[in-house]
Amino acid sequence: MDIILLGPPGAGKGTQAARLQQNRGMIQLSTGDMLREAVAKGTPVGVKAKAVMEAGELVSDAIVSALIGERLDSASDGAIFDGFPRTQHQAEALEMLLADRDRNLAHVIELVVDEEALVDRITGRFSCAQCGANYHDRFHRPKVDGTCDVCGSHEFKRRPDDNEATVRTRMAEYRAKTAPILPFYEEKGLVRRIDGMASVDDVAAAIDSILDS
Ligand code: ADP
Ligand code: ADP
Ligand code: ZN
Repeated sequence: MDIILLGPPGAGKGTQAARLQQNRGMIQLSTGDMLREAVAKGTPVGVKAKAVMEAGELVSDAIVSALIGERLDSASDGAIFDGFPRTQHQAEALEMLLADRDRNLAHVIELVVDEEALVDRITGRFSCAQCGANYHDRFHRPKVDGTCDVCGSHEFKRRPDDNEATVRTRMAEYRAKTAPILPFYEEKGLVRRIDGMASVDDVAAAIDSILDS
């Protein structure tokens, strides 16, 4: 089963995708993670993307669609698209990539959230430098302060684009370019809306009930 998690920055896409990957054997395909990896490795894609990401703007459709195309076959038991598609062009590219493989989307799950709360979520976000597990200064602290719940590492990191000014640009990008693709999926009857302001566990339960329906 292939699904899209759609929502503005900080809506909880990565948190929920990681959980689905763990519990259901689906594979999380996060273009944000792929791009950060490319930046860290200094690949040609990373060199192009770095400044665009730091400004909170969107990387080109061609680059992100190619990244998804490269990984799609590794998620043949079901992909969770996290942070992709973000534009109408990307939505169309995804249709082609899936059709070429006789696959199709089961659901587009929209996490509906309050924008002001997102600034708090994003500026408090950090992750394990070792395994990538996600945390939050107030909403999701490690069980033992300074120690990753998953791998025991003591090293954590924050994203350079998780500051208030860049978050505002990212939200504006979401409103201008990503939210307008919802009607495309609504026409196909694929959109399922859930309350992204609920607790992580309640959001997870809402997603589970959609996937099990
Ligand atoms: P996205 O991938 O949509 O940008 P994340 O999953 O990284 O969002 O979540 C952003 C931050 O908010 C993280 O620090 C995460 O721990 C926290 N978070 C995620 N879901 C919730 C929730 N339902 N309630 C409170 N905080 C949350
Ligand atoms: P968030 O978790 O806050 O939603 P992501 O990790 O998905 O953010 O993306 C971080 C940045 O990477 C974006 O601000 C953008 O610059 C770039 N990016 C990620 N996915 C895409 C995409 N599908 N199209 C264009 N740019 C993208
Ligand atoms: Zn860890």
